Amino acid sequence: MSQLEDLLRDLVVANRILANEDVVDAYGHISVRHPDNPRRFFMSRSRAPELVERHDLIEFDQEGEPINDQRPPYLERFIHAAIFEARPDVVAVVHAHAEDTLPFGLINKPLEPVIHSGSFIGGKVPVWDIRKKFGDTDLLVRNMAQGRDLAKCLGKGHVALMRGHGFASAARSIIEVVRLSVYLPRNARVQMNAMRMGGKPKPLSKGEIAARAAGYRPNMPETWRAWEYWATRAGCGDRIGKPEDHAHHDHAHKG
Ligand code: MN
Repeated sequence: MSQLEDLLRDLVVANRILANEDVVDAYGHISVRHPDNPRRFFMSRSRAPELVERHDLIEFDQEGEPINDQRPPYLERFIHAAIFEARPDVVAVVHAHAEDTLPFGLINKPLEPVIHSGSFIGGKVPVWDIRKKFGDTDLLVRNMAQGRDLAKCLGKGHVALMRGHGFASAARSIIEVVRLSVYLPRNARVQMNAMRMGGKPKPLSKGEIAARAAGYRPNMPETWRAWEYWATRAGCGDRIGKPEDHAHHDHAHKG
């Protein structure tokens, strides 16, 4: 298979993993940058991630508009378009509404890495409030201006919370953004539980976060182990190919 088809196959699997791990439900989406044209990206048409197949994937331009496809796209595709525009280093983006992340968008207590598997969150997570700039809206990111404002809040980070709505996460590959998005609600749950016990949770230090990042390689066995596990649980263990097929498109876009 071509590199592009490998990538799109992974995008289908990623949709199903995110659904199976309760990161997304009927809503929420994942996208990947076009490996040969950094101004474009791929994402499903408006369909629940658990049901997404290869033929549901649409190519989008840098303004978030579908290329030669009349099927209804996700309303909030501008989240993805704006993050890809602002961040040449980003290859894959997730938007989801995972409940355990939401309290941290409502109160003045930042979500931050408190467990080792949450280290890839990177640090204190900024909260984007659509109302600050756009007043009373339906909270959905419906145009590029709103997407760009969110991307600005994300800055150079990996995650931004969206007040009363969900989160956006961004990473250098599909596998990385899936891992980040799976562990984000788990980290939030542990942090909340620790706060309920009445203390102030001790977050990972900057040095610990850096040590975790330094120990990570896209094609190391531990990365593949999680991908194979999640895909198999999601019922698509037969669609993931072999580890060596993935090495070449992780970090495909070095921007
Ligand atoms: Mn949403």
